Amino acid sequence: MKGVIVKEPGGPDQLKMTELPKPEAGKDDLLIKVNMAAVNRTDIVSREGKAGYASNPILGVEVAGTVVEANGAHSFQVGDRVMGLVNGGGYAEYAVMPASRAMKIPESLSFSEGAAIPEVFLTAYQTLFWIGNLKEDDTVLIHAGASGVGTAAIQLAKQTTGAKVIATAGTERKLRFCAELGADVTINYKEQPFDKAVLEATDNQGADLILDFIGASYWDKNLTSINTDGRWVLIGILGGSELESIDLMTIMSKRIQLTGTLLTPRSDAYKAELSKEFIEKVTPYFEQGSVRPVLDSTFPAEQADEAHIHMEENRNIGKIILNMDS
Ligand code: NAP
Repeated sequence: MKGVIVKEPGGPDQLKMTELPKPEAGKDDLLIKVNMAAVNRTDIVSREGKAGYASNPILGVEVAGTVVEANGAHSFQVGDRVMGLVNGGGYAEYAVMPASRAMKIPESLSFSEGAAIPEVFLTAYQTLFWIGNLKEDDTVLIHAGASGVGTAAIQLAKQTTGAKVIATAGTERKLRFCAELGADVTINYKEQPFDKAVLEATDNQGADLILDFIGASYWDKNLTSINTDGRWVLIGILGGSELESIDLMTIMSKRIQLTGTLLTPRSDAYKAELSKEFIEKVTPYFEQGSVRPVLDSTFPAEQADEAHIHMEENRNIGKIILNMDS
């Protein structure tokens, strides 16, 4: 089969489509004929050789496709359309997925839409509700609002709790899109200090929950933006991972709960539990059309390098799809 590997750790030019052995499905695994895969920031970190947790030589952590082999006792059959997280190996014609975390693609959605769901929607669901404990009276500050995770989080927060959503992004086009998805307040972080705007939008109280994909460069402004007893979930470090100084006093006096998380290295059992709850709670919203995967663009698998460049240049709104059938 064909698959995309990394020749040497480095830039997008290191991605190579090559002939590889078809993977073998173990007990309780599904073998999936991949129709669409999707690009994630974790793939870029793996490509650069910086992800200590990457084990599969083929990139890609999520796919949508058709079951061609269904080992073990579970509810999936050959021919089912499924989506979900894989332990690497997504940028390939065939991929193996533990059946315990596979999700049937809602009938109204295409393979491309299915591939756009697992990583970003599960991350958004997990960080908003399992870790962030979002409630309907809360205000949530969602950074990188037009990112894959951001577009999922805005919709989930709004549709499932009605919480007040403040989103930040770096262009007016992205901000307009966040507002269309339901964000109540949008802030262009390149044009104004976002912390002042958050305080203005919350009667000087601050946000009860922050989904932080940025890290170091937003540290001080997040400290100002968060409410007393606020929860701050660190999910990404697009703005750096090291701080020159940390004001521990503010963390204590505001009683801030700061948590970090990474989905990819989580256990099979955790991913199974998260996928199961997600499909139960969120599928009805997909079926009604009130929550939707956001597709930015589709690249043929041979152009995985172009897809990575598109993401690294911050050009996407929502998900970048790789067509493995092309
Ligand atoms: P994405 O679609 O590639 O979007 C990321 C956006 O972040 C960019 O388009 C850009 O939008 C903004 N951005 C980039 N660098 C920035 C900076 N230095 N300061 C401020 N904004 C910046 O990303 P994604 O795939 O949704 O992932 C979003 C983040 O979540 C990434 O950091 C990713 O690693 C993380 N993630 C974490 C987990 C986990 O389990 N912890 C799981 C999935 C994703 P603007 O034009 O608005 O600046």
